[in-house]
Amino acid sequence: MTTKWRPATQLVHGGTIRSQYGETSEAIYLTQGFVYETAEAAEARFKGESEGYIYARYGSPTNDMFEKRMCLLEGAEDARAMASGMAAVAAAILCQVKAGDHIVAARALFGSCRWVVETLAPKYGVECTLVDGRDLANWEKAARKNTKVFFLESPTNPTLEVIDIAGVAKLADQVGAKVVVDNVFATPLFQKPLELGAHVVVYSATKHIDGQGRCLGGVVLSDSEWIKESLQDYFRHTGPAMSPFNAWTLLKGIETLPLRVRQQTENAGRIADLLANHPKVARVIYPGRADHPQADIIAKQMTGGSTLVCLELKGGKAAAFGLQNALEVVKISNNLGDAKSLITHPGTTTHKNLTDEARAELGISPGTLRLSAGIEDTDDLLEDFARALDKLPG
Ligand SMILES: *Cc1c(COP(=O)(O)O)cnc(C)c1O
Repeated sequence: MTTKWRPATQLVHGGTIRSQYGETSEAIYLTQGFVYETAEAAEARFKGESEGYIYARYGSPTNDMFEKRMCLLEGAEDARAMASGMAAVAAAILCQVKAGDHIVAARALFGSCRWVVETLAPKYGVECTLVDGRDLANWEKAARKNTKVFFLESPTNPTLEVIDIAGVAKLADQVGAKVVVDNVFATPLFQKPLELGAHVVVYSATKHIDGQGRCLGGVVLSDSEWIKESLQDYFRHTGPAMSPFNAWTLLKGIETLPLRVRQQTENAGRIADLLANHPKVARVIYPGRADHPQADIIAKQMTGGSTLVCLELKGGKAAAFGLQNALEVVKISNNLGDAKSLITHPGTTTHKNLTDEARAELGISPGTLRLSAGIEDTDDLLEDFARALDKLPG
């Protein structure tokens, strides 16, 4: 497999395994198991003396193609595809801790990710400290002798704050912890956590990687040693494997990832500018704008803006609901990364389970909305927002 191509080329050709038929498009190997020529061949396969597949829970050809293509894009040595983003996050964290260990995590996390570290891990004797991840001093203060994992998401959901990944990785190295980065919001095109010193990267492939709202998926990427020593047994014996059908859908999805993300980012940036200058909008947070509170860190670690925009309306919840209901092109949905533009009100959807206090800590107010820009014509989206904002009371 060649590693010399640029990302857009890798995403079309990288990792392809052609069968004897020479098919153009990747084949779907929708099989649970594999047959062996002889009993001796089966024995050798199980002993690890011969290359090949054993059972689809362990690995299979279509999943392999997806994993290899993701590795080429990410610059990782190895990866495991999983059934959903949450299967990937849970596996990446739980596979490397035991009772008595400690996790430090940035508190601004996707809801289910926060549940895994804040609620699930402690049930098994793994303590977790949540910190405001924007300040490196907080990570340093929270770290203990038994800290095994630093977990973060950047930019964060939904307020698009960023965390200095290289800074956190440096601290983790000092205490002997592994940094796990949920890189969904940045996409693998705009941010490379492994190059910044992180040890493990996870994605919900459900988002930009599929990008067309079809199937759930997740992937964990790291170096070969970590995958083999920490993840492999957990993965094989707890069974979060991705369906080969979904691996195939995602393989086709990532062929167009750069085209989609480019258009989504262009649309998001243009909408952010429109909103930032609108009298009914209190605040816009967009990683591609110079007025982002952490523009210096963004310049250091990201190569593109974002497909997401966070906005706060002056009229609170009534205005936030009014805007959503008045939009015609943009659909109301809590998903993101889709070809269709989607908007959600975090306070009553994705972040409804947090206390008012926790929401305030994260900067989520009743007027906060999160937009995931799609690939529609930019002018249609700008007109949609201008028209919907006009309809809001003064
Ligand atoms: C969606 C999402 C997840 C969970 O992924 P699923 O595929 O829905 O399980 C995890 N982290 C982030 C940042 C996400 O946006």
